[in-house]
Formats: sequence, C-alpha cells, structure tokens
Amino acid sequence: MFDKTLAELAQGLKSGDFSSVELTQAYLNRIKAEDEKYNSYITVTEEQALAQAKAADEAIAAGTAGAFTGLPFAHKDIFCTQGVRTSCASKMLDNFISPYNATVVEKFNAAGGVMLGKTNMDEFAMGSSNESSFYGAAKNPWNTECVPGGSSGGSAAAVAAQLAPAATGTDTGGSIRQPAALCGITGLKPTYGRVSRFGMIAFASSLDQGGPMTKTAEDAAMMLNVMAGFDKHDSTSVDRAVPDYTADLNKPLDGLKIGLPKEFFMDDLDSEIAERTQAAIKEFEKLGATVKEVSLPNTALSIPAYYIIAPAEASSNLSRFDGVRYGYRCENPVDLEDLYKRSRGEGFGAEVKRRIMIGAYALSEGFYDAYYNKAQQIRRLIRDDFAKVLSEVDVIMGPTTPHPAFKIGEKTSDPVAMYMEDIFTISLNLAGLPGMSVPCGTVNGLPTGLQIIGDYFAEQKLLNVAHQFQLATDWHTQSPQGI
Ligand code: GLN
Repeated sequence: MFDKTLAELAQGLKSGDFSSVELTQAYLNRIKAEDEKYNSYITVTEEQALAQAKAADEAIAAGTAGAFTGLPFAHKDIFCTQGVRTSCASKMLDNFISPYNATVVEKFNAAGGVMLGKTNMDEFAMGSSNESSFYGAAKNPWNTECVPGGSSGGSAAAVAAQLAPAATGTDTGGSIRQPAALCGITGLKPTYGRVSRFGMIAFASSLDQGGPMTKTAEDAAMMLNVMAGFDKHDSTSVDRAVPDYTADLNKPLDGLKIGLPKEFFMDDLDSEIAERTQAAIKEFEKLGATVKEVSLPNTALSIPAYYIIAPAEASSNLSRFDGVRYGYRCENPVDLEDLYKRSRGEGFGAEVKRRIMIGAYALSEGFYDAYYNKAQQIRRLIRDDFAKVLSEVDVIMGPTTPHPAFKIGEKTSDPVAMYMEDIFTISLNLAGLPGMSVPCGTVNGLPTGLQIIGDYFAEQKLLNVAHQFQLATDWHTQSPQGI
C-alpha cells in the first residue's frame, strides 16, 4: 500500500478497495513506527487527519468526491494551518498556532485532501540540507547519515520513506528540486505567480513559490491541479486559467527540442552525475527528441546575486518577528529595546541571523548600489539568457545538483560550499521560471535528479516530458533499502 502513487490510491478509494480512514490510519501508524529514524515530521495531526478522512469517505459514498478526495499528504511546516502549530522550523514560531489557513491549505481542504502533518525543513526555509531546523536535521532515507537536502528536506524524506504519498514544498532557490533530487523523488517548482503565496511564511517574496513533491510526474500534476490558481490575497499571483495538468501527460515527445547548457556541465559536477544525466538525455533521444548545446553564460553569477537578493528580502520579511505580536518572547525584558534584541537574538538560529545581517548590510545607504542594485542587474541578465535559449528550444535539461547527498555536518561550517549545492537551481528562481527534478539514477547508492526547465507557465509541458521519461525508465519506482 505504501508504495502506491496518489493516482493508484485515488483508484483504490474509488473502487472501494480501502477507505480513506483505513488509508490514513495506516499512514499514521507507519509514521509513529518509523519516523524516529528520519525526523521528517515536526507535527503529526492525527485527530484532524482522521476527521478529514471520515468526511472524505462520506463524500465518496455520497458520490460528491473529486479527484483528490480522501488522499493523504503532508504540508511543509511553512504553510499556515489554522489551529495547528506552524513553526517554520524556528524557535521563533515554536509556539505559534496559526489563526488562519494559507490559500494552498484552503485549496487542499476544499479538494478533500487529508493532511497527515507538518514536515521538517530548514529554519525559515534557509538552507540546502535541513540542518538549520530548530527540531534537528531530517535524515535521508537512502542513508540516514546523509542530509535529505533542503529546505523542504522533511517533505522529501517523508515521501522517500513512504511516510506520506506526497507533500507540499516551497522553492526559493531550489528547495523543492534539490531535496527531491537527493531523496529520489519528483519535485516541481511552478512559475512564479502560479501558486498563491498567501499564508506561506515569506522568506524572499520575489523568489518564493510553493509546489508538489511526489513519487511521479502524474502525481505532481494531480497536486498542481489543486494548488495552482489566482488568489486575490496575493498580488503577485497571476490571473490565468488553470489547465488540467493531467491532460497532456501522454503526448508523444517526437520532435521535442532539448537544450543542454554547457555551463551546467562544469568542473565541479560529480562525474557520475554527469554520466547519469547524459544517459537520461539519451532516453529522450530514443523518444524522438533532438538535443543541442546551449549557453547560459551568467550561471555562475546566480549564486552571488541570489545571496544578496534573498537575504535582502528576508531581512525585511523577518522584521515582523519582534517578540511583540506573536512568536517567541524573551523572559523579563527590561525595556522595549531589550525585548526586541533578546527575543530576536534568542528566537532565531545562526543561519537566519547571518541572512538578516547580510540583507540589512546590502540594503544600507552606502552599499545599496554596490550590492542590491548590482544583483538586480545580474538578475535581469540571467532572465535574458533564459529567454534567448527558450526561444530556440522547448526545454532545458541538466543535473539538478552538482553532488549526491552529503553527510550530515559535512558542510555546516562552510556556508559557501552549502550555497554551491544550488548552483543549477537558483537561476530559475531569479528568472521566475518553472523547473522539475525527476530521479535519473543512483551514484554510490544515492539518488540523483534530472532537472527539466521550461518557459513561463509551461508546467504542462514539463509534466508531459517528465511523465514520458517515467514511462520509459524505472528510476522513480526505486526505494531506499529496507523501505
Ligand atoms: N538553499 C537556498 C537557500 O538557502 C534555497 C532555499 C530555498 O529554496 N528555500 O537560500
């Protein structure tokens, strides 16, 4: 049962093989028995899940069920959930019970989804390894000495360890695609504006985007059908019709033009990941695609530009956590300044403080032009690079990450080495483009991902391309040993 995809589970519910309550209870039992090994959940919402499952079973019996009714899944703990702790993996919000639902959460509730719980993540989504979580690192189910990637590491680990058939994630610089690659699952970062950010705790508002983390591209399409759409509460969400993302999955790929950016096959790329990526490209050639080399000349600048823009936005977004309105408050403050300083000093972890300091510095009078403005200019160049290439090819492909999962603790003392793990993912966020990661092999027993990048709002195409690859290969069906 636990190796079933959402699509298969939906079929099982429909034909009465099991009820949503049975399915949900089975997952809750499995989480209880197994999650100690992976630390993939921060909060398990057993009571609420069973109530939602019961309601779903009633809808199924009454014939009013939709495509998602009764399906269990998990939310990254960055999405506000009414009445349920929403911690963002920070001591700052350890005691925060959200008074309202994020739009994404509302949409899953309305679709009849069953939330199993809230998944572990890097604190305020800042990280590439899940090690900055106040609740401790989540573990990679393929090797529990390794990181699951970040920041949506708990979601990736939960899906890979079969503690949820699917989960939501958010991606500011790679946080859906990178952990998906490192845990051997499928992840999709939609076009900026496709999924509402309302109630998704803000890290870097011009980059953040929520998306699905699943076993298959077909399941990602089912999730995106629920998540996508205009939201009047999010001024950056785009008012554009939502297609049925499952509708085009079976289109043949004959004539598909694939661009391979030469900058993605750089020196630091693990040679075996390069081989797995090339082997995946060969599969697409067999499916009728043509491949050509392209260039994204400003790829190397994406990391420095991102690490100005994202911290600048974060320093502004995180100013709301002041110990006054909600969240952590220090004990016995002597005056207002002491309250601010100690609440923030004690409530935030080291990586979050580093970002706030970098961001405040880059935005300060004297340095704004040298750093923030410069980074915005680079952002435009990166966008233009993509526009040029995407006018010549249908999709761009390459590795999702330069290396497979690394050991817990290996990169914590070297933030720049950690930041480099997002070298292939970050540029898409700067441009606002959609991207996917699908499993394409293993290196020393650890999974690796193929990244598929498309033009704005080309999610349907990406899902079609990924689905055809998954029909032709079985990397996405492999699970870690013992699972
Ligand atoms: N690893 C990147 C960072 O630390 C991206 C994180 C994300 O996408 N949320 O900022």
